[in-house]
Amino acid sequence: MTAQIIDGKAFAADVRARVGEQVARLKAAHGVTPGLAVVLVGEDPASEVYVRNKGKQTLEAGMASFEHKLPAETSEAELLALIATLNADPEVHGILVQLPLPAHLNSDLVINAIDPAKDVDGFHISNVGLLATGQKAMVPCTPLGCLMMLRDHHGSLSGMEAVVLGRSNIVGKPMAQLLLRDSCTVTIAHSRTRDLEAVCRRADILVAAVGRPEMVKGDWIKPGATVIDVGINRVPAPEKGAGKTRLVGDVDFAAASAVAGAITPVPGGVGPMTIACLLANTLTACCRAHGLAEPEGLTA
Ligand code: NDP
Repeated sequence: MTAQIIDGKAFAADVRARVGEQVARLKAAHGVTPGLAVVLVGEDPASEVYVRNKGKQTLEAGMASFEHKLPAETSEAELLALIATLNADPEVHGILVQLPLPAHLNSDLVINAIDPAKDVDGFHISNVGLLATGQKAMVPCTPLGCLMMLRDHHGSLSGMEAVVLGRSNIVGKPMAQLLLRDSCTVTIAHSRTRDLEAVCRRADILVAAVGRPEMVKGDWIKPGATVIDVGINRVPAPEKGAGKTRLVGDVDFAAASAVAGAITPVPGGVGPMTIACLLANTLTACCRAHGLAEPEGLTA
């Protein structure tokens, strides 16, 4: 079997276009422009790239983008004061604090200071609880992107056997909650799981989010399964020249493609969906803030 490639880049472009259309409609019909505030503390080069991309795509979707770059030595009190200002600003519908924060800042405290209705990353403890109890929540962007691709590929996920490899708060746990909500039978596997291969082989849907380059082998996959590879790992690529690197996922793509029914590549799979879902969440937050109907097909 040769797996169908699920093209996350094309899917994300489609999500961004749909968000853009709805933003234009919101502006025309209600005079409302969704706004996203991104807060970056310190000068981590990778975070700066993420923040720049987020700002660019926010503007391209027709939304307002508010960037707040603070020095690495910013105190917790200063950061909390900025969040309080953004919470109170009616032009800001989404607030994202870029993680990781410098070590002297308590991430949990900072994230939980964000108004849950503006928590477009879905990390606030209230949103975690709302998702776990099947209520209307802001859903973390990466698992939301995976869910959208799975729904698009399969239609209904009801009754499918899903295995989520990884139990982090930002990917594994919310992914499992979303699959459960769509009536999958869900197993969460992690570093202490016994006979991981056999557990993975049960999966009609396998979501890998472990951060271990090409850990999932071809013979871990049930023939015909759908494989969503969340991992982003940089590995040496001597074939490209001395000191060069390339990106790989948590799944051995070549071997898995020979067994799976469908698979997301790395790069070009889950990655581009994450920012697209951030824009979708900002639009959703804006609609909720104004008591308007939520955008169809862009929420969990
Ligand atoms: P974490 O490091 O927070 O969690 C990794 C999880 O994998 C843990 O639950 C851990 O288990 C489990 N794990 C680690 N090693 C093994 C192993 N050998 N066998 C079984 N389970 C194992 O990572 P994240 O969830 O934050 O990210 C996972 C991957 O997804 C990374 O590559 C990251 O870069 C990528 N990512 C991609 C995004 C995107 O936009 N595409 C967004 C976010 C993340 P335990 O809990 O027992 O330690």
